Amino acid sequence: MINILEFTLERLARIFDQEFGKGRFHAHALYRDIFKQGNENFFVSPEFLDSPRFAKALKGKVSVAPGEVVKTVDEGELTKFITRLHDGLEIESVVIPMTRHNTLCISSQVGCKMGCKFCETGRMGFKRNLSISEIVGQVYNARHRLKKDVKNIVFMGMGEPLDNFDNLMGAIGVMNEQQGFDIALRHMTLSTVGLVPGIERLARLAMAGLRLAVSINAPDDATRSLLMPINTIFPLAHLKKSLINFPLPRRGVFLFEYILIRGLNDSPAHADLLADFIHPLPVRLNLIAYNPVKGLDHESPSDDQMHVFADLLSAKGIMVIKRWSRGRSVAAGCGQLGRNT
Ligand code: SF4
Repeated sequence: MINILEFTLERLARIFDQEFGKGRFHAHALYRDIFKQGNENFFVSPEFLDSPRFAKALKGKVSVAPGEVVKTVDEGELTKFITRLHDGLEIESVVIPMTRHNTLCISSQVGCKMGCKFCETGRMGFKRNLSISEIVGQVYNARHRLKKDVKNIVFMGMGEPLDNFDNLMGAIGVMNEQQGFDIALRHMTLSTVGLVPGIERLARLAMAGLRLAVSINAPDDATRSLLMPINTIFPLAHLKKSLINFPLPRRGVFLFEYILIRGLNDSPAHADLLADFIHPLPVRLNLIAYNPVKGLDHESPSDDQMHVFADLLSAKGIMVIKRWSRGRSVAAGCGQLGRNT
């Protein structure tokens, strides 16, 4: 069975050519109907009505399988949705309304191996990687099943995207396809815990426009290793070296994420060390107030602590954006996917 969501138009055309002796014309029609319009009854489109024998040959051989949306949870305009996959496993995605359009936060794995201590998904353990079509299917479901006008993608849902490198790159290629979803690379942000080999592979691809976000969360190895076990394998100095060598576009910046946790990484000394770590990288820092996770001892910072920490960094010339995570009550904030509210 050919799952259309797995392919760019070029690849689909080649498969049609090989399998059925017909290529671009019908692949194009199919692609437009499915990706642009969400029309899964594509055999009634004029191109197929004119080629009934080919339509018959395709029947039962092609499918659109984005997974079934089994639950949606709303908080204001924010929507978390749960998709059940072919093997019964479930993943979560979040539609986040922005000023002019929606951003979709996408999962790349079922569960996660990274085990970050502040994260609900990390506590689930790892089940499996998502396929290209399961990653792309989240956009399909958001746009065509939930009717959300999604323009931006952030790979910040369940899983570490760079740990599923090949399928992630395949999915980015499909989402980027002009004849399909047509989402520009500059509208996609890939968020990593700092998996250095993945960052180095990504650097070699030099995908102009794709934005890289890195979860930092602590400016010293001792605290970071406590929060993020990956730091014991790729400590901060190693991570920084990979970022220094990363080919940013002119005037491009890294997005750094720093979850502020009361009493753990929120002192003026932490702010100083963080500024040292950032220098001389071009960085926009998202300072995120920790979201309480059931069963974990960490506490959220007060609003005052957020302001003081941000001011210390701003005074050193670092661009800081403070975020009080949205979606707290539906477990759709950073590090909370996997709770299945
Ligand atoms: S924060 Fe991201 S990388 Fe870390 S455990 Fe959670 S999902 Fe995995």
